[in-house]
Amino acid sequence: MDGARSAPTQTVHQPRSPTPSSSQNIDEGRFPPGTLLAQRYRIVSLLGRGGMGEVYRANDLLLGQAVALKFLPSEWTSHEETLARFRNEVRIARQISHPNVCRVHDIGAAEGSIYLSMEYVDGEDLASLLRRIGRLPPDKALEIARQLCAGLAAAHDKGVLHRDLKPGNIMLDGKGQLRITDFGLAGMAGDVQDIRSGTPGYMAPEQRSGREVTARSDIYALGVVLHEVFTGSRSSVDSSHPDLAPEVDRV
Ligand code: ADP
Ligand code: MG
Repeated sequence: MDGARSAPTQTVHQPRSPTPSSSQNIDEGRFPPGTLLAQRYRIVSLLGRGGMGEVYRANDLLLGQAVALKFLPSEWTSHEETLARFRNEVRIARQISHPNVCRVHDIGAAEGSIYLSMEYVDGEDLASLLRRIGRLPPDKALEIARQLCAGLAAAHDKGVLHRDLKPGNIMLDGKGQLRITDFGLAGMAGDVQDIRSGTPGYMAPEQRSGREVTARSDIYALGVVLHEVFTGSRSSVDSSHPDLAPEVDRV
């Protein structure tokens, strides 16, 4: 079934479309399809790129399951600070077990690169969905809001701050189930060094100014994401939207 592409339908949550979620050319991955890594993973395709490297879909031949592998850029594999951050991502993400948080398995090395293995989400990130269809219908938007809040609450319950919540770090699978991904900047509450790391459009004022970053900063980012999901735009978060249900508009 995987990889079968039907004509676009009315459903909001489609299997990953051939359109890359990143603006770069998605075909130019470091590992071509079919590559065998660590005597265990067969590369299927490049899924996306972000600030921390390339993410591939692969088959775990040992366990017979699909996984996602995220590789650090090779020039960073000898950069201890980046490696520490990468290990941190795994350590932190492993503490959270929730249906709305992408499960991270482990960390490894192959072909001179460091990777982390995680649950493969057969779907699309919210950024590419929003680009594709604009604002979501109110019932879908509410469903996304509910799952996003549940996943973030699970992280905060463990004292974990995401610090880079944005549509590109939120995945939706073909059944409409949401997963928060990319704990690359995450930190434990009260133990965050580089406060200003994040993505400008979604950062809370206190995070942007380098003052502090707390669970409230994640909730600020959550607000910006939800505004985008319900209205299709990120700007004018302060103004009210008469076309939304009043209880949604209030939130
Ligand atoms: P970065 O830290 O470089 O931003 P991300 O973890 O955000 O990396 O991944 C980059 C892109 O790869 C995402 O926007 C998404 O499209 C895709 N991706 C990431 N994780 C997964 C996953 N577990 N399953 C499927 N696709 C994923
Ligand atoms: Mg990302």
